[in-house]
Amino acid sequence: MLTVALGKDYRRQDCSLAKALELLGERWTLLVVRDAFLGVRRYRDFLVHLDIPRAVLAERLQTLTGAGVLERRRYQDSPPRDEYVLTARGRELWTVLYPLTRWGERHLGSPGGPRRIYAHASCGTELDDAGACPACGCAVPPGDVETRPGPGADVGLRDDPVSQALRRPHRLLEPLFGQSIAAENVSLSG
Ligand SMILES: [Zn+2]
Repeated sequence: MLTVALGKDYRRQDCSLAKALELLGERWTLLVVRDAFLGVRRYRDFLVHLDIPRAVLAERLQTLTGAGVLERRRYQDSPPRDEYVLTARGRELWTVLYPLTRWGERHLGSPGGPRRIYAHASCGTELDDAGACPACGCAVPPGDVETRPGPGADVGLRDDPVSQALRRPHRLLEPLFGQSIAAENVSLSG
């Protein structure tokens, strides 16, 4: 049988963008990372929010964990349950994801306006296209960003628990549901 195989990698591209795309350019991968910024941590929550086949989600989580973008953490022993949390390397992707999202708003946006608002949590000012706060004059790290639906959001489109939780203002990286290791550490140290 004759088959035409589409190359799976960019082996002959001596380029760092090609290296990044080998990891991040597959369908769904950046949306898994987006959901991790939004506070999704558990397999079932990624699953219900992304409408993604189980095997594809499992493969994407494994690849991102293997590449050091996500860290797998046990949050329950019996039965064993893990959550997936962005590492420092993964959190760096905010400076890629946010401008790409804004590009989408500008060129592929909803007629009603932005689908999602991103604001500096401490002052409430909406971030500029580069992810900085115009009022404070500083770049805002994702942990200091509060997000909420914008006027262009189609709030009736989805009714899964993640979509429902994201209708309320929510700080990026904070878990949407349940107690997490990070939240416990914050409460112990704070
Ligand atoms: Zn500010």
